[in-house]
This record gives sequence, C-alpha cells and structure tokens, in this order.
Amino acid sequence: MLPESGGPYPLHAPEFEGHELEYVDDCIKTGWVSSVGSYVDRFERDLAAFCGVKRAVAVSNGTASLHISLLACGVKRDDEVLIPDLTFVATANAVTYLGAIPHLVDCESTSLGVDAAALDDYLKEIAALRPEGLINKITGRRISALVPMHTFGHPCDMEALSALCERCHLTLIEDAAEAIGSFYHGRHCGNFGKVAALSFNGNKTITTGGGGAVLTNDEELGALIKHLTTQAKVPHAFRFRHDHIGYNYRMPNLNAALGCAQLEQLERKLTLKRIVAARYERLFRKVAGFSFVKEPPYCKSNYWLNAILLDRSCAELRDDIITALNENGIGSRPVWDLMSSLPMFKDCPRMPCPVAEDISSRLINLPSSPKLANLPEPDGV
Ligand SMILES: *Cc1c(COP(=O)(O)O)cnc(C)c1O
Repeated sequence: MLPESGGPYPLHAPEFEGHELEYVDDCIKTGWVSSVGSYVDRFERDLAAFCGVKRAVAVSNGTASLHISLLACGVKRDDEVLIPDLTFVATANAVTYLGAIPHLVDCESTSLGVDAAALDDYLKEIAALRPEGLINKITGRRISALVPMHTFGHPCDMEALSALCERCHLTLIEDAAEAIGSFYHGRHCGNFGKVAALSFNGNKTITTGGGGAVLTNDEELGALIKHLTTQAKVPHAFRFRHDHIGYNYRMPNLNAALGCAQLEQLERKLTLKRIVAARYERLFRKVAGFSFVKEPPYCKSNYWLNAILLDRSCAELRDDIITALNENGIGSRPVWDLMSSLPMFKDCPRMPCPVAEDISSRLINLPSSPKLANLPEPDGV
C-alpha cells in the first residue's frame, strides 16, 4: 500500500469518530440501504444548512456532480468550457461527457485558482460577445461556461470571477469538490456560481465512502437536478414512467448515513485542520528553500491539503524530496500533471499558463489529516 493511503502519516486519512457505526447499523437493521431512505433526505438538509444554500442534492460521486451540473446549466455539444489547466482530471472529463471541449486557463499564485484578470485580458483578445453568446473567434465555437476550482480548499477570487462571467455571459459553475468548510468573504464556497459540485470521496475533508453533492440557490434548478439524478422518474404510486433521459447518480442511503455522522463532526475537523496548517506555516517560516501556501486574504480555507512551494532554484529536487518523504511514511505528492500535458487534452484550446506551469513544477502536498493536530508540537516550532 502506498504511504498516501497507509503509513503513519498518510496524505489524508478518513476519520470516523462519531455516530457512523450507529447510523450505518440503522440502515442495515431497517433494510433501507439503497436508493431511498431518510438519511439521504437528512444529509441533503444538513448539508444545505451548513453551506447556506437553498438546495443540496446528494449524488454518487463528485465527478457525477460535475457532469450533472454542467448538463443542468445547459452546456451543449461543441461548446467550449473554461476550466483551469491546474485541476484534477475529473473537471476536464466531465466537460467531455457532454461532447463539450475543455478550454484551459491559467491560475494565480495567491489562491492557485483561475486568474480572473489574466482570463479577462485573454478573452478580450480571442473572443467576441455576440447575440448567441461569447464566441471564440479562432475556433468559431461558443464559450458557454467557466468552472473555477477551489484548489486544496483555498477559495478562488469569486467576486472577480462572478463579475467576469456576468460581463461575458458565461455560466459560472464551481468545482468545490475540495472546498467543504471553505468560506469567501464569510460565505461558503458554492454560493457564487449557478451550481457547485462537492465530493465526499475517501480522501476529502469529510467522506461518505464515495459520494458528492450539487449545491444551488436556484430551487427550480435543484429540483431538476434531483429529478435527472434519480432516473427522471415521474412520481407515482406504482407506475414506472420517465420524462427525460435520466441518470442513476443518486447517493445510496448507506453512504448518506455515513455522511450525516461525518457532517456532525465537520466543525471539529475544520478546527483541527487549521491547527495543522498553522503549524506548517510556523515551521516553514523558519526553513529556507520552501514557502507554505497560505489561504488568500478575506478567505477562510478548510486547508484540505497543505502545500509547500520549493524555491525555483531547487525545483528539480521535487521528486527526490517526495520519494524521501514517502519512504519515511510521510505521505506526500506533487500537484496533478497539468490537463494540457495529458494525451486526451493536449490539443484543447489553451491560454498561456505560465503560473500553472510554475506551480506544478515545484509544489508538494503534505499530510493533512485532522488528527495530526493531536501530535505534540516539536520544540522550536
Ligand atoms: C475529488 C475531486 C473531484 C472528483 O470527485 P470524486 O468524488 O472522486 O468523483 C473533482 N474535482 C476535484 C477538483 C477533486 O478534487
């Protein structure tokens, strides 16, 4: 097993310290394990309340959440969708599930999220606002949406990105897969786009085993998403009638039971994660050659994964450092390879991405589980 999942200090380990067993046991004893059940309803309600949104729809995973978000927002075949070059592959994959084309954009060094100013300049150059929407003058295709991603839980500059989307008639969809418990100007991530996608995979801040959710403040859209993710079945006492092409993307009740118990512990996990981050910050202030990636100003990050940047002068040591850490049971990894470097996306339209290239060459993620806060702090840190 890789240290990332095992070892004494995994990158991010799930922690079950509340009512998980009790709630899962309840599902098994009552037989409500699958596609309907009270934990799904409760998880959706509790999640919406925590995030301060009108509606949360629980789904089978974060990737399904992105897919259905794009679909429900009207992204069509041959549209281009702006996504960061620096992201997890699911963001790009979800765009292609609709026959749309990822259009890769750069990030800024503060938030590691989409750089609104650079994107604005780029769009002025390559795109034109026409009655049918924003058109890429080079490819002739419509650019229909922007999907910023809150990297490692650090919120993107949503004010600037919202303004840009309004000016350019782009639909704003947040990939908030890593951002449960992250706030921008006091509002939870996921409140800024038309919809947002969350993930509850095993390595995320809270987990349902596998799972995700769509957040929205548009009740009608929320109802449509619930309908589409549950096979688009028309409610009826016994008939099986479906009025759209639907998806089996619902979250099983078993997973939602786990999620209800995890949500009860979210505040505590967030507090512990911020203690861990503060320790790293203090440590790396004293160590030459590295800088700690801090939350952007005016944000409160969940610090899902802590990250350090190697000084440019020693970037070539990145893989040696990661290998040494992993060999010593300290789970670490580089950031994802850029989307533009993957064979499936190498020919996608792309703006110059010098910042994403720079970050990806010298970033290292470090162990970030909440329980690390319980370790004694070493002397002098
Ligand atoms: C985890 C993650 C996803 C996908 O979530 P799954 O639940 O694993 O499908 C999507 N986008 C980003 C940025 C992620 O980190």
